[in-house]
Amino acid sequence: MNNNKNALFESIAALEGALFIDGQLRKGTGERLPVENPANGQVIGHIAAATPDEVNDAVSAAHRAFQTWSRELPRTRADALHRLGDLIAADALHMAQIMTLEQGKPVNEAKGEVLKLAEACHFYAEEATRIHGEIIPNDQPGFQSMVVREPIGVVGAITPWNYPAELVGWKLCASLASGCSIVIKPAELTPYTALAIAQKCAEADIPAGVVNVLTGKGSVVGQALVDHPYVAKIAFTGSSAVGLHIQQSCPQVKRMSLELGGNCPLVVAASADLDAAVKGALRRSFRNCGQICIAINRIYVHRSLYEAFIGKLGAAADGLSVQNGLEFPAADLGAMASAEPLNKTRAHLADALEKGARLVAGGKAPEGNEYAKGHFFRPTVVADCTHRMLVMTEETFGPLVGVAPFDHLAEAVELANDTPYGLASYVYARDLTEIHTLSTALDYGNVAINNVDAGIMNAPYGGRKQSGVGYEHGREGLLEYFHFKHVRLHHGVGN
Ligand code: NAD
Repeated sequence: MNNNKNALFESIAALEGALFIDGQLRKGTGERLPVENPANGQVIGHIAAATPDEVNDAVSAAHRAFQTWSRELPRTRADALHRLGDLIAADALHMAQIMTLEQGKPVNEAKGEVLKLAEACHFYAEEATRIHGEIIPNDQPGFQSMVVREPIGVVGAITPWNYPAELVGWKLCASLASGCSIVIKPAELTPYTALAIAQKCAEADIPAGVVNVLTGKGSVVGQALVDHPYVAKIAFTGSSAVGLHIQQSCPQVKRMSLELGGNCPLVVAASADLDAAVKGALRRSFRNCGQICIAINRIYVHRSLYEAFIGKLGAAADGLSVQNGLEFPAADLGAMASAEPLNKTRAHLADALEKGARLVAGGKAPEGNEYAKGHFFRPTVVADCTHRMLVMTEETFGPLVGVAPFDHLAEAVELANDTPYGLASYVYARDLTEIHTLSTALDYGNVAINNVDAGIMNAPYGGRKQSGVGYEHGREGLLEYFHFKHVRLHHGVGN
């Protein structure tokens, strides 16, 4: 483990103050910002806040590279993506440890995320060769309409810290497959995973300038990408507040996909398999410490199952381990990524308890010296919740879930839809009428029934209402990276 740890810290040291511009890692000239290990508060390194000149260098490099990358044969782009996927998979453990060090999730979970990124590279490689257009019938003889797909241009990707590999990767893979070039601005908390991905792009011989990574504050460097006239599309994942700000502040008309916050409900109907529902609730409420946009935040349980559900979910939550994710790769929960989501979790819990919720499990940080300097919290279940409580109406982004009973399905639908968000919703039911009623009535971009994995690579993934616009994944996700050009040809045959 010591050799392993040395290699890990050497990798981080090599990325100290680094930016990835025009195919090269270079030391940034701007202010240094510390990056902390959330499990113990130690500073693991610094990033450079990219200066306006460095932003311009990266965007200009991407703009130049677009001219050739967009004209490469699809097969060439597919091969590059396959090489990238192979390199990432081969180094998954090391990349996972980098992620754990900056983000806190246990190494095994981080490794799963890195391997899913590798899978995404292969998925998009295959899609790259299947980008066709359409021939549209005309109502006059002698004409033919073709709809041609052309890559948009330079993509500015702005990403959050909760899935530092996948949320960068989906945008990167779609850009590479479509023929776009990309400038990535990762979250301040998790820059090293993005820089490690950039190193893999260089190893995979992806041409200089096609992929660039700039570090720094969102309000400065992220905003500079939004403002830059050469950036043709913003692909943003993050909070609804920042997504709205980006939409409102963008000074030019440009394409945007905004994958934003959630406040996701689970409905456990009277016909549900209780144990399966508990298992699903446990996984989707507490994985990654609940720091998931599609985390289950609130659960509505038919009154006939209510007390049994609460008892089982509470016991299962109490059985989960919370540990330093680098030392204990198989822990259920690691450290939360920073003090901010931890404080919000505590605030939502205090609010719920003050307004009459019943504490069923957790409710505090784990005890012991090893937890003293990190951002740890036990998985927490509160019952008898109402919509006067923040836990039921706002995204907590922490290991806290609220539970409430319902008597009639219509009431469950009304409660589940009582939110400005519309990202993901979950249902456990065995009765076909209940399943159909809920899947139709839930006003969400994703509805998972008798499972809690709402996103798969080849189906569209996106939110509605304040959860965003646009899609990632699937054919729909890839089409977000294209213009459609209508070519109307008068060939005169049959005139
Ligand atoms: P955030 O909105 O604070 O930050 C996201 C990114 O935006 C960061 O890189 C940040 O530096 C940047 N940013 C901040 N201000 C900016 C500005 N003015 N202009 C341009 N960029 C700016 O979000 P976060 O705290 O990092 O992540 C948590 C949020 O992300 C949660 O709300 C979660 O639900 C959401 N999220 C959504 C999805 C999804 O697919 N819908 C997935 C993961 C996370």
